[in-house]
Amino acid sequence: KGFVECRNIGVVFGSGDAQTEAVKDVSITVQPNEFVSLIGPSGCGKSTLLSIVAGFAHPTRGVATLDGVEIRKPGAERGVVFQQYSLFPWLTVRKNVEFGLRMAGVPSSKRISSARTLLGLAGLLAFENHYPDQLSGGMKQRIGIVRALATSPQVLLMDEPFGALDTQTRAVMQEILTNMWQQFRISVLFITHDIEESVFLSDRIYVMTSRPGRIKAEIQVPLPRPRT
Ligand code: ADP
Ligand code: ADP
Repeated sequence: KGFVECRNIGVVFGSGDAQTEAVKDVSITVQPNEFVSLIGPSGCGKSTLLSIVAGFAHPTRGVATLDGVEIRKPGAERGVVFQQYSLFPWLTVRKNVEFGLRMAGVPSSKRISSARTLLGLAGLLAFENHYPDQLSGGMKQRIGIVRALATSPQVLLMDEPFGALDTQTRAVMQEILTNMWQQFRISVLFITHDIEESVFLSDRIYVMTSRPGRIKAEIQVPLPRPRT
C-alpha cells in the first residue's frame, strides 16, 4: 500500500504560441514506506508533478497511479502539506486537524479523539484551542503535517514544507518529520530546494532540470536511516 508511480508524464500549460512545456516525459516511483525527494531549480516542474500526484492537476501525457489505480482527483489516502497557507486561520488547531475527518463524514466525537491523539503525539495538545496566528511558523507546519496525517493517508505529499522557516527551526522540523515518518510508516514525496535537507531526509532523490522539466539523475542515498 502506498506505491506511487508516474509514467511518462508530460505537462503543457497554455496553448498556441503561449505554450510552456513544464514537464517532459517524467517517470518516477515512490515505493511503499519510502521517503523520496524531488530537488531542482525553481520552475523545473516539481510542484506541477506533486499536484498531479495530489490529484489537483491532470497531465497532458502519461499517467499517475496509486497502487495501480489512476489518480484523477484529490483523495483522503493522499495527505498534502504546502509551504504556506496550510492552516485555516479561522479554525482552532484542533478544528484544523479535524478538517479532513469532517470532510470524510467522521462523527464529531470520533474526530475530536483522533485529533487529540495526533496532537498529543506531536507534542501539541496544549495548543489545541489556539488559533494558527498565535503560533510560531514551525508549530504551524507541525500542525499542517498532523492535519495531513489525520485521515490516515498512505502517501504524504509535501511541497517545500520548511521553505519559510529559519535554519534552526528547519533542523528541528526535519527531526520531527523523520520521527513521524517512522511512526506512521507512510510513503512520502517531498519537494525541496535544499540538497542537504533531501540527503538527510530521503531514501532516494530525483534531481530535476528545467526547460523543459525532466529527471536528470536519480540518487539512492547510500546510508538509509534506521527504521524502527
Ligand atoms: P517548481 O515547483 O519546480 O518551481 P513548477 O511546477 O511550479 O516548478 O513550474 C514549472 C513550469 O511550469 C514553470 O515554467 C512555471 O512557470 C510553469 N507553470 C506552472 N504552473 C503553471 C500554470 N498554472 N500555468 C502556466 N504555467 C505554469
Ligand atoms: P463541531 O461539530 O465539531 O461542534 P461545528 O460544526 O460547530 O463543529 O463547526 C465548527 C467550526 O468549523 C465553525 O467555525 C465552522 O465555520 C467550521 N466549519 C464547519 N464546516 C466547515 C467547512 N466545510 N469548511 C470550513 N469550515 C467549516
